[in-house]
Amino acid sequence: MAPVTQDELNVYASAEARFEVAAQRLGLDEDVYRFLQYPSKEITVYIPVMLDSGHLKVFTGYRVLHSAVRGPGKGGIRFSMDVSLNEVRALASWMTWKCAVVNIPFGGAKGGVICDPTKLSKNELERITRRYTAELSDWLGPERDIPAPDIGTNEQTMAWVLDTYAMHVRQATTAVVTGKPLDIGGSQGRKEATGRGVLINCDKALAKLGMKREGCRVIIQGFGNVGSMAAMLMQRAGYKIIGVADIYGALLNENGFDVPELIDWVYTQKKPLPDFPGGGTKMSSHQILFNPCEILVPAATENQITTENAERVDCRILCEGANGPTTSHADAIIDRKGIFVIPDILGNAGGVTVSYFEWVQDRQGFFWRESEVNERLQDVLEHAFDEIIHYAELHKVNNRTAAYMVAIDRVARVLKVRGIYA
Ligand code: NAD
Repeated sequence: MAPVTQDELNVYASAEARFEVAAQRLGLDEDVYRFLQYPSKEITVYIPVMLDSGHLKVFTGYRVLHSAVRGPGKGGIRFSMDVSLNEVRALASWMTWKCAVVNIPFGGAKGGVICDPTKLSKNELERITRRYTAELSDWLGPERDIPAPDIGTNEQTMAWVLDTYAMHVRQATTAVVTGKPLDIGGSQGRKEATGRGVLINCDKALAKLGMKREGCRVIIQGFGNVGSMAAMLMQRAGYKIIGVADIYGALLNENGFDVPELIDWVYTQKKPLPDFPGGGTKMSSHQILFNPCEILVPAATENQITTENAERVDCRILCEGANGPTTSHADAIIDRKGIFVIPDILGNAGGVTVSYFEWVQDRQGFFWRESEVNERLQDVLEHAFDEIIHYAELHKVNNRTAAYMVAIDRVARVLKVRGIYA
């Protein structure tokens, strides 16, 4: 097997390749194609921050607005050493297609700061967040661009974004950011939303394939917001979580993990996941992807399934919780193996859907019960799943291409009626 090339690992090239395939299948108008191929705006910010040590460090951050055709930009802020402009660009374009797949009135955006949040104090993280937000205060806004949490950021980060933005515009503006704490305009169910979306999608896939939850073995790579919530909700629903992993390593236990205990171990006791005393064979977080299971949920980061290893993936359903966990080069191998793919722009769309509900609630100043949020989320995702699968069958394309085709077509139709300004 040839080693994976840099081109394969270039996430923006992966995003472009999928756009290309879908656009061609759609017979997309050439002008519209050219328009949608480029992001709308990109900004690089240099963030001077006084560290606790008394020394100043300048961090680099980005924000990319890919599209505001269907509504204001929407997309998370990532704090990670792996952040690059190319990655943020790809993630921003995926947000455009994701919002269109679930048919919510947002465009796509994404942001990131190159930093290692595990090595910075809370005060340092607050200063980075505030300065980053201040630099972007003219770009952000409930009708412009609305951030949310992503890798390395959380509810607290969003509270700092909100506060800094409110200070700059000199008025309370809760709808500028989603994934906030409940006390300052967050939504019930937002913390669980992406994981709940994974569960809803997997339930739909089981029904489609005539499978049952009972005895259904699930492996989840990534134990952050998405992975841990998916594990908890899926176990509660009757699935058997046999594999878990985070950046420190993985555990495999054919008897299934007690997920609430594991969450307590990692989040309350703050102990390394691979040292969990609840049983299991230790392995690398990469190796866990290749153990036999019915459902594999990569919920960590990009480029986990590549041409080098796709052949070894041994599942019936691949539900992508992370963005871009499978390279575009590996798509054909996964297809050939007959794996039922729930592509990222559908698989993890639960998060942005409830972010949309949060924005709606903030703007109406009226908040919904958790059951109401969950019910609406289920409606949106079940409908999107049915549409994508129906489209895939009708046009004889795989699920991923179908999701891109539906999304691109929706954006293109709006672009046509709006026209091109000047
Ligand atoms: P997070 O920071 O809360 O958690 C990330 C998890 O992945 C951690 O457990 C970390 O240890 C693990 N991880 C990181 N690199 C790894 C590696 N190489 N191997 C194994 N584990 C690794 O982040 P999150 O919010 O859960 O996001 C995870 C993924 O889901 C990202 O791709 C993100 O863009 C996507 N996503 C998140 C949301 C959301 O609502 N948070 C919504 C849609 C998509």
